[in-house]
Amino acid sequence: MRRLNDAPVHPDARYVLYWMRRNRRAQWNHALSYAAGWANDLGLPLLCFEELTCEGLSANDRMHTFALEGVPETARRLKALGCGYEFHFGRKRSEPSALPRAAASAAALVTDDDPELFSLDLDLPVAAVAVESSCIVPIGMFEKREYAAYSIRPKIARMLPHYLAPMEPVRLKQRYPRGACPAVTVVDIPRMVAACEIDHSVKPSLSIRGGVLEAERRLAHFVEHSINRYATLRNEPSKHANSCLSPYLRFGHISALEVALATRSEPAFQEELIVRRELAHNFARFAENPRSLTSLPHWAQATLVEHAADERPYVYDRDRFARAETHDELWNACQREMLVEGVIHGYYRMYWGKKIIEWSATCADALETMLYIHDRWALDGRDPNTYTNILWCFGLHDRPWRERPIFGMIRYMSLDGMIRKTDTAAYIREIRELERSA
Ligand SMILES: Cc1cc2nc3c(=O)[nH]c(=O)nc-3n(C[C@H](O)[C@H](O)[C@H](O)COP(=O)(O)OP(=O)(O)OC[C@H]3O[C@@H](n4cnc5c(N)ncnc54)[C@H](O)[C@@H]3O)c2cc1C
Repeated sequence: MRRLNDAPVHPDARYVLYWMRRNRRAQWNHALSYAAGWANDLGLPLLCFEELTCEGLSANDRMHTFALEGVPETARRLKALGCGYEFHFGRKRSEPSALPRAAASAAALVTDDDPELFSLDLDLPVAAVAVESSCIVPIGMFEKREYAAYSIRPKIARMLPHYLAPMEPVRLKQRYPRGACPAVTVVDIPRMVAACEIDHSVKPSLSIRGGVLEAERRLAHFVEHSINRYATLRNEPSKHANSCLSPYLRFGHISALEVALATRSEPAFQEELIVRRELAHNFARFAENPRSLTSLPHWAQATLVEHAADERPYVYDRDRFARAETHDELWNACQREMLVEGVIHGYYRMYWGKKIIEWSATCADALETMLYIHDRWALDGRDPNTYTNILWCFGLHDRPWRERPIFGMIRYMSLDGMIRKTDTAAYIREIRELERSA
């Protein structure tokens, strides 16, 4: 927990406010739990405030639909806790945030901590704290940027037994007088989204629905059917041995802690969910600009500069990449998965990124293309994992490899390697089927 300001508590106010900005869920949520404790201490009820605005490149039908699909169940669960719920839905880009109004009647404010919060310019009129509930070992437990998985892994291992523990249920002494507001029902969502001033060209994902119930269903399915195959088959996209939880972790519809406790039996999965994911949060928290090539290690920057003038076998611009119009059928299938589903399988996503580097005029262009595509289409985009893994393609958290054209000493991935190690034909067929079903 960290304080966000020196403003006083207003004990005569009407409620304690929990501003649910990152972890959009009513369970396994340390910020909500902390806010409930504060409300109980002050003898006040708790109001949860959640907002969806039309701002930014990612304000489109896909992200709005996914976020809204979480609202009915969150409302139901908050109501069962006795917590108030105000869901503010802005329809116009010019519409101001409703947070200042909600905060004006609050005794104190609690919100979700995450790396993004450090860059927000907040002017809150009441005592405000941020509570971390995105990672398992909180990002605040690390004092500096870690070099790679090998340096953060032992630190996480030391602290994990303390943090990898079930949470106490939230208990509120005072019920919020009006109960949770039934702001959204599932049938309303297409109409609500259509009425917004957002980008309507990015359609909702074909098969990935948002919400806590869907996240819990996917977790249960993974534990029952796939976890035993994860260690051996996670890099074979056609086998579907992965969890597909990244959009839910991104929107906070499920907590990493809940997932980690349910998957304790599988070390390979815990390595991704805890070590890799928390390394990404550490990078996003401490790098000066996590969306810039200047955050790469010096060896990676130097080798890329040395090879900047190397001839590229193909050169595409951002829009041709976005439209999946390259010469490579596998790459195009990956990009089409992103266009229709909002994710790309983890193993092919590395290939996808490496090839954008190989076929862009410059590394700066390649980075811009990857960020643009993630901002617009990726359900799990705009996340510490996004920036860290995109920069991983350029050498972040990796080591130097044998020198070669364009990449210098950055790790390279080839189509031959993909064909040798995975069933690329099955994947391409599957993506085609998916598009046909649309
Ligand atoms: C170029 C590129 C871009 C990426 N962009 C994103 C992104 O925008 N958002 C995102 O969440 N992940 C991103 N990743 C990482 C990884 O591909 C996804 O987390 C994973 O594919 C999500 O699918 P899953 O939930 O089925 O993963 P699983 O294999 O089931 O893993 C479970 C969870 O572990 C975490 N995880 C898995 N792999 C990694 C990793 N390499 N680094 C950090 N955490 C990991 C994720 O939270 C994931 O949901 C990117 C990778 C690359 C190479």
